[in-house]
Amino acid sequence: MTDGKFYHLECIKCGSKFDERKTATSCLKCGDSLDAIYDYDFIRQRLNTYSIKNAPISALKYLDFYPIIDLENVVSLKEGGTPLYHAENLGKKLGLKNIYIKDEGANPTGCFKDRGSLVEITKALEVGSKAICLASSGNMAASCAAYSAVAKIPCYVLVPEGTPIGKLAQTISYGARILQVRAPYSRCAELAVETAKKHNFYLAGDYVFRSEGQKSQAYEIIEQLDWNVPDYVIVPVGCGTNLSAIWKGFLDYKEVGLIKKLPKMIGVQPTGCATVYEAFDNNKKSVKRWDAIDTVCSAVAVNYPLDGNKVLKGIYKSKGRMTQVTDEETLNSEQLLARSESIFVEPSGALGIAALCQLAKNKIIKKDDTVVVVATGNGLKDPVTALKYQPAPATLEPDLDDISSYLNNKLYNLKATQISMREKELWGGQTPDINELAKYIEKEFGITITGKCLEGVHKNVARFITRGKAISEQDLQAIIEINLQEFSSKEAVLRVKDFELSVYRKKRAHAKLEIDFHGKRISVEGEGVGPVDALINGIRKGIESKDKLNFELLDYVVKIHTGGTDAAVEVRIKVNDKSGNEVVGAATSPDIIQASVDAFVRAYNALYWKNS
Ligand SMILES: *Cc1c(COP(=O)(O)O)cnc(C)c1O
Ligand SMILES: [Zn+2]
Repeated sequence: MTDGKFYHLECIKCGSKFDERKTATSCLKCGDSLDAIYDYDFIRQRLNTYSIKNAPISALKYLDFYPIIDLENVVSLKEGGTPLYHAENLGKKLGLKNIYIKDEGANPTGCFKDRGSLVEITKALEVGSKAICLASSGNMAASCAAYSAVAKIPCYVLVPEGTPIGKLAQTISYGARILQVRAPYSRCAELAVETAKKHNFYLAGDYVFRSEGQKSQAYEIIEQLDWNVPDYVIVPVGCGTNLSAIWKGFLDYKEVGLIKKLPKMIGVQPTGCATVYEAFDNNKKSVKRWDAIDTVCSAVAVNYPLDGNKVLKGIYKSKGRMTQVTDEETLNSEQLLARSESIFVEPSGALGIAALCQLAKNKIIKKDDTVVVVATGNGLKDPVTALKYQPAPATLEPDLDDISSYLNNKLYNLKATQISMREKELWGGQTPDINELAKYIEKEFGITITGKCLEGVHKNVARFITRGKAISEQDLQAIIEINLQEFSSKEAVLRVKDFELSVYRKKRAHAKLEIDFHGKRISVEGEGVGPVDALINGIRKGIESKDKLNFELLDYVVKIHTGGTDAAVEVRIKVNDKSGNEVVGAATSPDIIQASVDAFVRAYNALYWKNS
């Protein structure tokens, strides 16, 4: 090998060889991915087999298998050494005996990318880089930011607008210079290449050095299975770097004689961006770019996977396969894994479980097969998606009777509607009678509600329908959630019976209201900068003489449930009183003003109960 190096870089397609000072990203001739080709004789000679077999697992144990020349520069956060769980509960549910979960969420920044950053950031220092630059859908950003912080070099990151909040929070906290770009990941990746060139930054990303670092997952799996090779390894595919890396790790161990056979590799993608699956399904050797993609799995939402062709090579060679799963299957798997094995992953991290369920059902994976599923990232990275498809937990008054009543009625059993049912229209524009409604809720949402709570839901449903708004399952779920939040045996002191608004451009809004306060009907008028302000000012005036709370509006949040201007909105209003108590009232309606009034009235009543 040249330069006393024990490896060189080579294009996976045209075979051109490159010096890493020329390119360590993609082939300068054909643009495909690079691979590091080793002198395995050299590795075998210097390999300390005793240490490999006996030292505790950790990504640093495998330095002999990384293309690092000067170990002085190594940047490490003690990555790797993640648990491999024997998933007995999950296995029982699927009729499988030997299911193992490699929990990559246990890495320093909560994702396998740290293994790659170990090698990549080390290489950046080795070639004397002064700053690094990359595009990311979030996890690589957090990882590179963390490694750059300890390496004491600046890190510039381009992420798509709307990147999950856990990942953004990490990246910012590690001190990276983060740019949110109004474009999908693939455009960010192109821009990162150009930015790196123009500003002379080291370009990090799904390239060969990262891939070499991520091989350690395979080494650890072998050791954790007592030096046995699993039958299958299931890996989510975004850019495809990780699946290729894990496959390469198994090849390395076979080359140096640590294992005799190889596993079958199974890659999994969401149906909304199944680029590699499509190529596999058509027996192709190369992956086509997709124009548009659509999935909740943001970490794999890639329309052109840089290492897609590398993945195909590994899949064919290992006699494995690609699979595709729907977002619904993935989100159900996220819950299934958490509930059966107490491993909480982000949606992309659950893809492997979704694939496992599918392959078990189709009898492709059999009872005695040993299967390792790579759970790629920690669930706290993207809590918003997990919450979005789960019912919001109820909020109760601090009252033991209310708590007992809630528990006795088993209202914690509230299930979320299935994603495929969310848009389904209910009752075709006719308000159901209250018993029919109760039955439907029992069947679809798993709970029995009665009394005031059921009446509240019924009234809310009727209001949707009389306003001419089709009611969907998702709307109904929101209505139930909100009424459960108001789950209380107490009587409301404030009610708004009716209101009328006049709003003109360039004039203050004017409201006329009929309210019930402590059982007394009051007619009032109010003015304000906008309609909601005018209504609340009217209420304030009406209750002035008897109001002891001296409430103040602290926060006003509007969330739109579905698309379009006729969407149902959810309003949350936070109020406090003069002694500093704070409560939130929530309501949902196709009419934002109605939702605001309802939310305010609920907040006021809750505040009143707090004071009495
Ligand atoms: C990056 C990432 C993936 C996809 O890995 P690739 O190497 O891009 O194929 C999957 N899951 C999570 C959580 C990730 O962060
Ligand atoms: Zn090439």
